[in-house]
This record gives sequence, structure tokens and C-alpha cells, in this order.
Amino acid sequence: MSASGPGGTERTARDVRVLYVGGFGRSGSTLIERLLGELPGVCPVGELVHLWQRGVLAGERCGCGAPFHNCPFWRRVGAIAFGGWHNADVDRISSLRRQVDRNRFIPLLATSEGPPAFRRALSEYLSVYLRLYTAVAEASSCPIVVDSSKLASLAFCLRRCDDLDLRVLHVVRDSRAVAHSWTRHVYRPDVAPPGSDGQAVQRSAAAHSYMTTYLPASAALRWNIQNSALHVLARTGTPTSLVRYEDVVRDPELVLREVAAFAGVPLNDEALRFLGGDGDGRHADLRTAHTVSGNRVRFLSGRVPIRQDDAWQAAMSAGQRRTVTALTLPLLGRYGYLRTGGWLARKRLRTR
Ligand SMILES: [Zn+2]
Repeated sequence: MSASGPGGTERTARDVRVLYVGGFGRSGSTLIERLLGELPGVCPVGELVHLWQRGVLAGERCGCGAPFHNCPFWRRVGAIAFGGWHNADVDRISSLRRQVDRNRFIPLLATSEGPPAFRRALSEYLSVYLRLYTAVAEASSCPIVVDSSKLASLAFCLRRCDDLDLRVLHVVRDSRAVAHSWTRHVYRPDVAPPGSDGQAVQRSAAAHSYMTTYLPASAALRWNIQNSALHVLARTGTPTSLVRYEDVVRDPELVLREVAAFAGVPLNDEALRFLGGDGDGRHADLRTAHTVSGNRVRFLSGRVPIRQDDAWQAAMSAGQRRTVTALTLPLLGRYGYLRTGGWLARKRLRTR
């Protein structure tokens, strides 16, 4: 599989490495992606799975603050990949996603080639992502693209693309903290002011001004599904590494060194100079990142504190905590969240 740009230059993605951040939402993946994006040769793009609806169609804001169609980086990516975003058939891509990129197709994606119609749809779907990743690598001059789409189903699709060097960073966070976060009404700062991109593409802006919420039990079940699916992915032979959000916050230098080794990012001491502080006063000096979707952390630049969000411990009711603990018990134990000291356990998780 290969991708060619409008300039006629034939490019393959063999030199493009995708570090795919997988996991369930509210697990700190946006912060982790921002930290990874400071490493040399690494380009973070946000949750690429939402590029089509939230970027191309809705014109939501890039992480740089500009509406999608006004961002020079994404204009260049669109030109390289499709000869301009107006040539990207978003309806077709959405249709292909429904045909192959769903949790219900994971058994098919994991175990067999699938029927001919499925294979054709998957091949077409992957060709779009291949063009996109290749264009991002060219526009950014970075050989490694970080995609924090998180969804296990897309990772299962991408593993079927022989021309991508796919590595999956499986990010987990204590299910109680995650479930509590999903109950909170969080404003989405992604929506650009009407008409600001000059393309009148503010579709359903009001309906998307707040992030989705889930009841704790529903969030717990979804946490189980996404994380379990990513464990299955690891067993298919896809290079996968597991990190806990709590470990990233506590010792970002150590975790980033390990992730860099996993992703093949050469590091020297200079590469981690953007990290500073100690104890509860850790921080990162972040540059602007052109990310298409993710939580509000994607808009931050300059000195950004790295601290544990442990609001759930005081705010979550005992009943909700018991429910989520019971529903997620096996994986909570596997990740070390049930050890003495709970999520503060000092022993880092190193095994899958
Ligand atoms: Zn931008």
C-alpha cells in the first residue's frame, strides 16, 4: 500500500511510525500525548479519528487555537494527502468506519482476513489513514506520529496495514478516577466562533459544547471493554506497551524514557529539558501543538503543571466507588490499583 501526493511524488509510509495511544477516555492520554510531542522527531496530532467530523466538517479549533481550516499545518496536511480537504470524501470515510471500525468487528480484525467485502472496505479505510499519517510526517518533518484516538477498534484496523510501523501505547488510569471524571459536566473549548474559519462549517456547535457524560457503572463497563480489547491486541503480536497515568504524573522523566525506548525515539539529556520541578511541583514547558481533538490540555502552552487529579477521592460517593470497584475488579488488580496504598502504590507496573 502506498500514498502519493498531488505533487506526483510517490511516497510510502514504511518510514512512518505511528505511536497510537490507546485506552479509555479521561485516562490522561492528552497530557501524555503532549509530553511525547516534546520529544525530538515526534509529531502529536490529537485524536485523529475525530478529524473528519470535528475538523474537516465542523471546523473546530486546532490545538494552536486556529479554526481547523485556518491552521497552516492542517492546510498543508490536507494539500499533501488529498490535494486539499475539499477532496476528502468525509461521508465515504464515515461509511467505511461504520463497516470496519467498530468494537463488534474486533474479533474479525483479530482473528481472520474477513469476507471479501469487509477486506475491500478495510483496505480503502486504511489507505485514507496511510495518506494522512504520511502527510503529517511530511508536513511536520517528523518520522513518528502520535495519534491519541484511544479507540481499540481503530488500533485493530491499523494493525492490518502492512505499510505502517504501528506501536501501541496502552494508557490506563484507576477506574474510580475515570468513572468520576465521566460524571462531570466539562465544557468543550474546541468550538470556534461562528464564521471564524470563513467556511460556515459550524455544524451542531451548540450540541457539542459539553463533553459526553456517563453514569459510573456505564463508564466502568466501557473502561473494561476498551482495556480488555487492548490486551487482546497485544496478544496478536502488535507491539504494545502499558503505562499508568499515575506513574506518568509521579515520574514523567522515567516513563518518557521508557516510552521513547519503546517507540524508537533516540534521547539525550537535552531531550527532557522541557520537564522540571520535583515532588508535587512538577511542570513541563510545552510548545504549541497542532492537535485536532482531545481535552482542554491540548490548548495549553508554556509552563504547564503536571499534577495528580485526585478530586474523585473526595467527591465520589462510597456507593459509586463500591460499584465501580466491583465492576472493574480484575483489571484494577492487574494494574496494581488494589495494592496497599491503592493508586499511590510505589511499585511500578512493568508486566502486561
Ligand atoms: Zn494548528
